Amino acid sequence: MPFHHLPRRSLGFFPTPIVELPRLSQSLGGPRILIKRDDQTGLALGGNKTRKLEFLIADALHQNCDCVITAGAAQSNHCRQTAAAAAMVGLECHLVLGGTPPEQANGNLLLDEVLGATIHWTGADRKGEQLNAISSQLQAQDHHPYVIPYGGSNALGAVGFVAAMAELQQQLQAMEQSMDAIVFASSSGGTQAGLTVGRSFLAMDVELIGIRIDKAEDEQLSYGDQLAELATSTAKMLQSECHFHPADFRVETAYLGAGYGVVGDLERSAINLLAQSEGILLDPVYSGRAMGGLLDLIRRGHFHRQQTVLFWHTGGQPALFAPQFSLKETNSFSG
Ligand SMILES: *Cc1c(COP(=O)(O)O)cnc(C)c1O
Repeated sequence: MPFHHLPRRSLGFFPTPIVELPRLSQSLGGPRILIKRDDQTGLALGGNKTRKLEFLIADALHQNCDCVITAGAAQSNHCRQTAAAAAMVGLECHLVLGGTPPEQANGNLLLDEVLGATIHWTGADRKGEQLNAISSQLQAQDHHPYVIPYGGSNALGAVGFVAAMAELQQQLQAMEQSMDAIVFASSSGGTQAGLTVGRSFLAMDVELIGIRIDKAEDEQLSYGDQLAELATSTAKMLQSECHFHPADFRVETAYLGAGYGVVGDLERSAINLLAQSEGILLDPVYSGRAMGGLLDLIRRGHFHRQQTVLFWHTGGQPALFAPQFSLKETNSFSG
């Protein structure tokens, strides 16, 4: 594989399982639906960031850094997995989180504290706007920090999802299974860029559909441009001159609802349907919205009965325990 020259630190359990969701398919009248369980990567409750961190943490160790620093929202899954990965290899972890300290931590934030991370609160900035400033402060205190960008989405992090596509291809070959589309939550872009580069390297004929989770009003570059740039730099990291263009990325933006982290009927009904038909837990911010999007595409007839769709479960369940996300469906219970 083209990524074997890069240092990689094992942080989880791979390959993650693929299972079929027959009861869900039946309730929808098709298509066949498979799920890839990256919520089971095994790193402190798992999630898709484990794949990126295997390359990022290895690089931090390679550069002899003594701490890692990254950023996200208060309920960031990326920050929780980074804190766990840092603990695992004996690095200090600094998290730059949007918001203000709550009276009582819950969900991912509670786990950040248990995992021993130092937290820097930055108010309205939840996408790492202050990462470099805080990194400089750490340097002034004689630290040697390794900066992991928001969501772990730089070229090196995205390599984790090129590797994921190779993992998927091997599993499909062993299962003698082909598939028509892969649907997943898309936010900081490393997942979608990496899967797209992997598809191209491995010549896989499958549609990739990213369900957009958050849209910044002030984006300088469109998300398609950001994905194209990230994918091109990821390919370059893998010694390929392959260029990607916004048209290489299918991103569904119809499911943003009232914005990032706001649970609406779409997420609530997807979470309850998966839980009650298959016993699988989605999360309120990412996989709940992505599954809501997939269910809508299916109901609109985007896939026909004989097709096979794989939902890539990217994790995030610790946020289920943050009380601001209200998940109970009021209209589907009789008492
Ligand atoms: C970060 C995250 C995503 C999005 O992945 P990106 O690579 O940032 O696009 C999806 N689901 C969950 C649960 C996440 O934590």
